[in-house]
Amino acid sequence: MRILVVEDDPLLAAGLARVLNRGGHAVDRADTGIRADNMLRATSYELVVLDVGLPDIDGFEVLRRTRLRRARTSVLVLTARDGIEDRVHGLDLGADDYLTKPFAIAEFEARVRALLRRTSIPSGRRLFRGLSVDTEIKRVKVNQVPVDLTVR
Ligand code: CA
Repeated sequence: MRILVVEDDPLLAAGLARVLNRGGHAVDRADTGIRADNMLRATSYELVVLDVGLPDIDGFEVLRRTRLRRARTSVLVLTARDGIEDRVHGLDLGADDYLTKPFAIAEFEARVRALLRRTSIPSGRRLFRGLSVDTEIKRVKVNQVPVDLTVR
């Protein structure tokens, strides 16, 4: 899956990208809201990990613009703020899930998995003719014969 990590803290951004890479995902990074918005216009991502506090436009504004374009990207909002109002605001703007910093990497990974499950092709679905994809066990078959692919 293609994932965009929007985070201006370079250490955290690198850490999240590493974790997602290890999970077999292709990861791009943006460190400002404007850059994130431009990348979201140019590329379609399955998931955006979106920090709220950014140097220019904040994560909420990036989210608002993304939803205005009716993009189907899943959005996981990260914030240092723990106010109920922020949480509600993010969800009202169309965030799919919410994680308050600091968070455990295991929880981050679990939420990413849950969001990607929602967007991925239903398990065992036949795409056309002999081609079937099982996203749970990451297995592709052509005419019932398993095909070896990399995780990505
Ligand atoms: Ca930040």
